Amino acid sequence: MKCRVCRQPAVIDVRRHNANFCEEHFVRLCRDQVVKAIEAFEMLSPGDRVLVAVSGGKDSLALWDILLALGYEVDGLYLGLGIGDYSEGSGHHAREFAAARGLRLLEVDLRSEHGFGIPDGSRAANRPPCSACGLSKRHLFDRAAREGDYDALATGHNLDDEAAVLFGNVLRWEGEYLARQMPVLPAGNGFPRKVKPLVRLGERETAAYCVLRGIDYQVEECPMAAGNRHLGYKAALNAVEAQSPGTRHAFYFGFLDRAADLFRSQMAEVDQGLGTCATCGSPANGEVCAFCRLVDRATGDRGPTHDAAVGRVPVRLESRRDDGVPG
Ligand code: SF4
Ligand code: ZN
Repeated sequence: MKCRVCRQPAVIDVRRHNANFCEEHFVRLCRDQVVKAIEAFEMLSPGDRVLVAVSGGKDSLALWDILLALGYEVDGLYLGLGIGDYSEGSGHHAREFAAARGLRLLEVDLRSEHGFGIPDGSRAANRPPCSACGLSKRHLFDRAAREGDYDALATGHNLDDEAAVLFGNVLRWEGEYLARQMPVLPAGNGFPRKVKPLVRLGERETAAYCVLRGIDYQVEECPMAAGNRHLGYKAALNAVEAQSPGTRHAFYFGFLDRAADLFRSQMAEVDQGLGTCATCGSPANGEVCAFCRLVDRATGDRGPTHDAAVGRVPVRLESRRDDGVPG
């Protein structure tokens, strides 16, 4: 097995590209794929200040490493979810990565700052854990990017994640979600610009990138992920990809090229109804935003925030940016 570029011994095969690569050229391939995604979708400009949402897993740490290598000014944001040993380990990996490189890692702790962790909070709020978790992440990441005046918020969603989310949304023809299934969402309505620079890399590649770069990451799966629909969609696409390499890429990028525009009008409809949360000042579909309502329910608070919220907001709008991706 020889590297396609230099003919030296290869360390990895990438079936989608029908090619093998040595360490140096694989690392370069990963960075080139990120550059390609950033340029094709106009995600970032030179000199942008970027906030990366860091979970301590392979994708977010690979993303942080690659954006730094490409010359961006990048800080990390770690959100403590209160999921026992899993959160302990995740936080440890995020902090180690930042400390070893002298990087700035912001931290928000759900339990000490908002009064609940995902396992107990989701139970109290009668909401699936990944739904409460996704909502909390979106709200707190957006808020940190806005308050820190970052040019963009970057997340580590990779090609496997995005194709699986697309698959789920297509199976149910979820128009509003399909409208938002873009690798870049522009800033506006109080939201920061959101970018997914890893959409051209699969998760096997981000894992290999971390190993080759000596990045120690959280390998444990979150214990709350069991039963998440997204994992089933991913497994289905893995089976298809094994039979026919390149299908996942063709599915996702074919959607972006040929179908995404058909759903754009639904995004505008949702955005039109946005106001400002009376409690925290974030964008909201009602008087109070979905996160503040979650905090009320998760902590058992029955104050004015809760009363104002009950029954006012359609469920589908509450989870408007829920992409269902575990991890
Ligand atoms: Fe959150 Fe992911 Fe765990 Fe679900 S699987 S609870 S989204 S960290
Ligand atoms: Zn709020």
